[in-house]
Amino acid sequence: MKVYAIGGYNEVGKNMTAVEVDGEVVIFDMGYSMEKIVSMEDEERAASTEAMKEMGAIPNDRILEGKNVVGIVINHGHLDHCGAVPRLAEKYNCKIYATPYTLEVIKNLLDDEGKGYLKSRLYPMNANDTVELSKNLQLEFVHITHSIPQTVLSVLHTKEGTVVYANDYKLDDEPVLEKKPDYRRIKALGKEGVKLLISECVRVTEPSITPPESVAKHLVRYALNKAYDYEKSAVIITTFASHIARLKSIIEENKDKRKVVMVGRSLDNYVIPASQLGLINLRGVRVFGRKRGIKRTMKKVAEHPEEYLVVCTGNQGEENSVLWRMARKQYEFKIRKDDVVIFASETIPHPINRASKYMVIELLKEQGAKIIDDVHVSGHARREDHRELLKMLRPEYVIPSHGETERLASYASMALEEGYRIGDTVRILYNGAVTEIK
Ligand SMILES: [Zn+2]
Repeated sequence: MKVYAIGGYNEVGKNMTAVEVDGEVVIFDMGYSMEKIVSMEDEERAASTEAMKEMGAIPNDRILEGKNVVGIVINHGHLDHCGAVPRLAEKYNCKIYATPYTLEVIKNLLDDEGKGYLKSRLYPMNANDTVELSKNLQLEFVHITHSIPQTVLSVLHTKEGTVVYANDYKLDDEPVLEKKPDYRRIKALGKEGVKLLISECVRVTEPSITPPESVAKHLVRYALNKAYDYEKSAVIITTFASHIARLKSIIEENKDKRKVVMVGRSLDNYVIPASQLGLINLRGVRVFGRKRGIKRTMKKVAEHPEEYLVVCTGNQGEENSVLWRMARKQYEFKIRKDDVVIFASETIPHPINRASKYMVIELLKEQGAKIIDDVHVSGHARREDHRELLKMLRPEYVIPSHGETERLASYASMALEEGYRIGDTVRILYNGAVTEIK
């Protein structure tokens, strides 16, 4: 068995790994680099696929040239796992396997990039499903928790043993949207024997365990109650558009006190499919993704700010997001003294995000807004969660992914504590590396 580290081994982002057994290759994830894409001008984003690879915006999959790829598996709908599908999937003549919600995200991406014809290659799979990728390869999805619905562990059964791809995940025993991780199946896999675990390591440097999403729900409740003490104030809350569990908590914790409006293109993109799949109940909630609808809504909010809870895009201070525009007074609604802006998110630790969010907050504060930040818990496993998954699966080999060397090495040091040997049973790879598992 060979493992190709293609993207996400020199950075957090642009995930792509391939596993080859007996001349057949399965690709896990095709993500892009959020920072690279966000910092690009429009004409750069229109660059050729080869140029995008050179810029480090999407994985460089040169290493797979001429290989017999029998399946592309996308673990969940975050763009650092599926954002490069429109660019890279085309040349591989195979199906793209993912859960229904992830496929909805991919469909939007394909439409945006004029690749709608690739939709015929999408193959929906639910947790608990197993499909034959070929005579010798079976793919199984196992339910796990993360910060976007329908995230799975992808399990590849091969005649050389089982590969578990766990990128991304958290072990959330109190989720607010879906069920707990499928511990029964995870432990059973461990008993049956796992050859290789490929695991994310985004937060492995943080000790302890990641708190559950129920804690974030509590924090949302607390922040909203504080905000609603200001009866005449506008209350604005922003979070990741794909974080459907968090949005559900926001709707529930509003407790019908105010009219909930969701504004912003990406909210529309992620929330509507979630509601169509029955993942979130939008009764009484209006969602506006287009400029005109947003403008009209902000006019209504300007007339009666105390009647609304405005859920908007822009939690990272992204250019042209609704919060960015609000801070720059581009709508009829203007922030007044004692209006409250809640960030149900954290700042992604990258200079671009830090700078743009800082600017937005400063502008909002200048206009008199009260800022409540960090109403959030992470969707990534911390060190002790990683140890737990490792203990349950007991793989012969483990490869950390989704991080630069520092994170990969930190994961390896945890594995070392569990009896793995660095360079042997735990491997630290870099983009473009190939390693053989015997
Ligand atoms: Zn993710």
